[in-house]
Amino acid sequence: MRIGFGFDVHPLEKGRELRLGGITVPHDKGARGHSDADVLIHAICDALLGAANLGDIGKHFPDTSAEFKNIDSRILLKKVMEMIRQNKYDLENTDVTLCLEKPKIAPHVDAIKKSLSEVMGVDINCISIKATTNEKLGYIGREEGVACYAVVLLKNR
Ligand code: MG
Repeated sequence: MRIGFGFDVHPLEKGRELRLGGITVPHDKGARGHSDADVLIHAICDALLGAANLGDIGKHFPDTSAEFKNIDSRILLKKVMEMIRQNKYDLENTDVTLCLEKPKIAPHVDAIKKSLSEVMGVDINCISIKATTNEKLGYIGREEGVACYAVVLLKNR
């Protein structure tokens, strides 16, 4: 068994789509980034890569590369899962905590889980998605950004 931890943060601004776990969550702001800025997928990717000791998302998908400009992060997650499996690991489970002030995530959790299970090729029960506000504190509390934490457990085949 191998454990991995991932963290990511993106600024929020008007005029961007809010992509979370491969779905678009309706909101008046979205996350800014080189890719589609899917903070949830990025945290899971880093946790997966960390568990397998394969570096981080920036090493594999540099934000200086035009190849990854505005890329759908589901493509990145799919590639990371391929790397994990090539290294003879399977996902046991992932547990994710999204941290943002608005909007409420609870109504979207099932859709996010379904999206991730399809992209990752794992059972939906392997994926836990939780969300919390930051109690109006700091950059998250001021709705200037969104952060996400993820842990994964891999098992060696
Ligand atoms: Mg990111």
